[in-house]
Amino acid sequence: MATLVQKYGGTSVGSVERIENVARKVIEWKNKGDGNDIVVVVSAMSGETNRLIGLAESIIENPERKSSREYDVLVSTGEQVTVALLCMALQKLGQEAISYTGWQVPLRTDGSNSKARIESIDPENLSRELKAGKVVVVAGFQGVDDDNNITTLGRGGSDTTGVALAAAIGADECQIFTDVDGVYTTDPRVVKKARRLNTITFEEMLEMASLGSKVLQIRSVEFAGKYNVPLRVLSSFDEGTDNHGTLITYEDDEMEKPKVTGIAFTRDEAEVKVSNVKDTPGVAATILGAIADANIDVDMIVQNIGTDDRTDFTFTVKRNDYDEAVTVLNKLRETIGDDISISGDSSIAKLSIVGVGMKSHVGVASAMFSTLAKEGINIRMISTSEIKVSVVIDEKYLELGTRALHDVFELETPREMRA
Ligand code: ADP
Ligand code: ASP
Ligand code: MG
Repeated sequence: MATLVQKYGGTSVGSVERIENVARKVIEWKNKGDGNDIVVVVSAMSGETNRLIGLAESIIENPERKSSREYDVLVSTGEQVTVALLCMALQKLGQEAISYTGWQVPLRTDGSNSKARIESIDPENLSRELKAGKVVVVAGFQGVDDDNNITTLGRGGSDTTGVALAAAIGADECQIFTDVDGVYTTDPRVVKKARRLNTITFEEMLEMASLGSKVLQIRSVEFAGKYNVPLRVLSSFDEGTDNHGTLITYEDDEMEKPKVTGIAFTRDEAEVKVSNVKDTPGVAATILGAIADANIDVDMIVQNIGTDDRTDFTFTVKRNDYDEAVTVLNKLRETIGDDISISGDSSIAKLSIVGVGMKSHVGVASAMFSTLAKEGINIRMISTSEIKVSVVIDEKYLELGTRALHDVFELETPREMRA
């Protein structure tokens, strides 16, 4: 007998029929072998979180920032709908089930609304319900802070709820059921030839998630790595209980290490450039300090070597922070000089290759650059780490670039068969 946490995402619970399909699946897993204890985590029905955000935006601009407490009260309701419907579907099929919202668990978080971090989970209630033979259905994405405010964990946060509950109750595995049957070499919706990976290391999955592969929320991968939670991605549409999906694993010395394991990308980027800045000590701190004070995350940064005491400073931010970043910089004119010029581009994208094998292979970055050059794609910025190379390019070339890199690194071929 095993204890499993199963998370079903928005598309998997996108209609009443699909919720009933999930109920049948959960019962199949519950009765498998000599029986299993099952905690289910669900997302809101697909499109529901966006619909709720749209309602808020029709009243105020940027509700996530400007009314973050109420934003969380609002967007957390999507998951409350699905936990109740799934319990009804389970009960209709004769399976005892009970729903829990985040505060009922309780799943405690810090107080940073809309991007809260999980601090602790009391497993007592869940364990009691499991002992009584019930399936426990928990609302993903939400928690409660020390002042009893409802909080949410950031977009895609139900993955993190799943992994955190698995850690709290000591589950044997956390299974993320979604609309694809595992983690692929790149987004299978963009590259038809993308291949499902049987395994991927935590290190690689962390990079893929942080560089834009939304199949797992990055914090869920961090959590699983930190608390040793076996984590698997599976399809909620496959029949039966024998599918392998993709297991996230620790790196093992025996493992065949390909140069490149996967390609990730994100369109959620914008580039901001401040030119003609006086090249004096402290100027980077002044610019980036003001951006940080406005709570804007900066990703890549490039400062050119100065000429004639002047330099250019370019960095990237999330696309929906772009306007705010430009406003902040315009206010800085009084401090760093009125003769600076501020420009930018919000139609850029970041394309990245990821692989633990890069640690021991040279020439991977140059192969990437020459492939993009052959396609006539200009690279605007580059950033590297031990196991990834990222470039910023024009958004319109993103799909072309991804397909070209997928071909050149032979990602459609199984690792052991590559040249
Ligand atoms: P859910 O609603 O189940 O949480 P998401 O939409 O958040 O599902 O994540 C699943 C989607 O992630 C897939 O439909 C796929 O388009 C996308 N995706 C991006 N990169 C990858 C990848 N490398 N492997 C698999 N799916 C990926
Ligand atoms: N419903 C939330 C979202 O759409 C959380 C999730 O689906 O994981 O981001
Ligand atoms: Mg998701």
